[in-house]
Amino acid sequence: MYLKRLELYGFKSFADRTRLEFGPGITAIVGPNGSGKSNLVDAVRWVLGEQSARQLRGSKMEDVIFAGTATRKGVGLAEVVLVLDNEDGQLPIDYSEVTVARRVDRAGGSDYLLNGQRVRLRDVQELLYDTAIGREAYSVVGQGKIDEILSARDEDRRGLLEEAAGIVRFKVRKKEALRRLEDAERRLERLGDILRELE
Ligand code: ATP
Repeated sequence: MYLKRLELYGFKSFADRTRLEFGPGITAIVGPNGSGKSNLVDAVRWVLGEQSARQLRGSKMEDVIFAGTATRKGVGLAEVVLVLDNEDGQLPIDYSEVTVARRVDRAGGSDYLLNGQRVRLRDVQELLYDTAIGREAYSVVGQGKIDEILSARDEDRRGLLEEAAGIVRFKVRKKEALRRLEDAERRLERLGDILRELE
């Protein structure tokens, strides 16, 4: 699996629709200061579900929308499309190319799309568990991240190892199953109370 393409529209400094093709073997993006290199990394994080504006170097989520410049008006909508090559089947989905898209507008509207279908953030997250490319995963290493990992709490560091070991998917499912079990137990108790009252 590798990042095949990134498309941006109205995202940060990328006002016009911009399409970047990454073949296998591309390892660097170079450009003058302020030309938008970090904005591209932010776009990858964002489309994969980043919820923290701070992680995207902003103060609120709306800051990802092109705000305008001295010579150009801002826009009302930001969109990022990320295309992954899945020829090796690493993503558990029956497509050799997987497209993840995210849109947000100034009115607060927000959408995720997986291969063109509207989905929940959770569906995107589930697809990416254990692949190292999820929102919290280690394939996007920002400035200062290494220091952060070295000084992280043991539990947080363990999270990275769990992602690498491929067990995050199962941990999330276990948590969900336990929550349902607790729910069922509570309902059973309530039913018991009702039965006792009726007897
Ligand atoms: P450096 O090499 O200095 O780190 P860079 O190439 O990584 O620079 P970025 O930090 O990606 O550059 O881009 C910064 C530019 O993006 C700034 O000029 C900033 O004004 C612009 N920018 C960020 N958010 C927006 C926005 N919402 N609307 C318009 N421009 C924006």
